[in-house]
Amino acid sequence: MTPDQEYVLKTVKARDVHFVRFWFTDVMGNMKSFAVNPNELEHAFEEGMGFDGSCINGFSDTAESDMLAFPDASTFQILPWRPDSNAVARMFCNIRTPEGEPFEGDSRLILSRVVQSVREAGYEANMGPEVEYFYFRDSKGTEVLDRGGYFDLTELDSGSDLRRDTVLALENMGIPVEYSHHESGPSQHEIDLRYSDACSMADAVMTYKMVVKEIAALHGVYASFMPKPLSDCPGSGMHVHLSLFDHDDRNAFFDPNDPLGHHLSSTAKHFIAGLLHYAPEFCLVTNQYVNSYKRLTGGKEAPAYVSWARSNRSTLVRIPGYRPSEEMACRVEMRNADPACNPYLAFAVMLAAGMAGIREQLPLPESSEGVNLSSLDPSKLRELGVQKLPLTLGNAIELFAESDLMKSVLGEHIHGYLVDAKSREWREYLKQVSPWELDRWLEVL
Ligand code: GLN
Ligand code: MG
Ligand code: MG
Ligand code: MG
Repeated sequence: MTPDQEYVLKTVKARDVHFVRFWFTDVMGNMKSFAVNPNELEHAFEEGMGFDGSCINGFSDTAESDMLAFPDASTFQILPWRPDSNAVARMFCNIRTPEGEPFEGDSRLILSRVVQSVREAGYEANMGPEVEYFYFRDSKGTEVLDRGGYFDLTELDSGSDLRRDTVLALENMGIPVEYSHHESGPSQHEIDLRYSDACSMADAVMTYKMVVKEIAALHGVYASFMPKPLSDCPGSGMHVHLSLFDHDDRNAFFDPNDPLGHHLSSTAKHFIAGLLHYAPEFCLVTNQYVNSYKRLTGGKEAPAYVSWARSNRSTLVRIPGYRPSEEMACRVEMRNADPACNPYLAFAVMLAAGMAGIREQLPLPESSEGVNLSSLDPSKLRELGVQKLPLTLGNAIELFAESDLMKSVLGEHIHGYLVDAKSREWREYLKQVSPWELDRWLEVL
């Protein structure tokens, strides 16, 4: 047994843990879980625990449905919102086939492969997500809890106790929080996690979403990560701050002598160029629902164009301007993803795109500093060479389906599953006659 596994067995006894939840993620990014009796743990570490993969989105068909979950002892945490006696803990799992092979539908596996290839290229990736969400009175509608806006306090921010309890629970589980505040929309909030390596961060985002929802439920309200729940208000994004450190722990994105004055190295510039170049192809992963495109095309600081700048918040990539001379803080902010994505796959495709930019030495396009891209007409955009992100889920599926990079990063299993599942969703949506259409046209036509 490894030291981590021994630590788990000891802690389970010392802390009166009676249920150990095994957590893993389906291809869409939904958390799946089953509870295991502590007596089974030793066996589970060695042999895994079996489950029926045919019931999990994007796992296996009924013909070959047996799967094994191997708990990762380094992710053991006690769930702080559950009772202290007969306590409940969790571990994330890696999924294997009955033959003992890593399972190609396991998104945690896909991310760990990309992280390994980044490491082989000489870097460690850091990710720092800012995750936005709404509180609603319940899950049946969109009644908001307050009318507050960006950074509002007290009576305009009835979510502050909810946020406080959420941040405390996250910290209790070893997930440090850097910022939390009311966001621009009514009842909209943001909690920013302190950066860490990509694999731990994807686990942390899964935990975060769970904790936000659990704490909301304890307070009798509902938390939603839907990208655009209110037509006329800002949507919820998951901006991701990225940087690469080399093996001497120096920030490979930092160059104090950058001729552009952004303190960005040529490695950073190629990485950004890769993010921009491949964003239309990977948008289906970072923005995977019909509703995601209502956020992206709806303005309100969500990016619609493939563009970058230092201080322009309508661009896809932003170079944060705080403490620009500080090596550790040098990073890029990727702004298209929304919190309804699968964080393992989203981080995997972003890193793979940036690394492809470095490998292919892609040139950094002109920045869109001070330009309001949404005010330009299509011919001007063409002249400037500014591309649009996909406008709809259908559009995103087409670009993703053709992408060689996506096929190689995600593997045939997940790539094929996403194309099929998302095409079904898109066809289903296109058939619907919406209240907006009836409202507008029924009496007129
Ligand atoms: N809510 C905006 C988005 O959808 C971001 C607002 C902000 O953080 N400045 O991306
Ligand atoms: Mg923020
Ligand atoms: Mg924000
Ligand atoms: Mg941001």
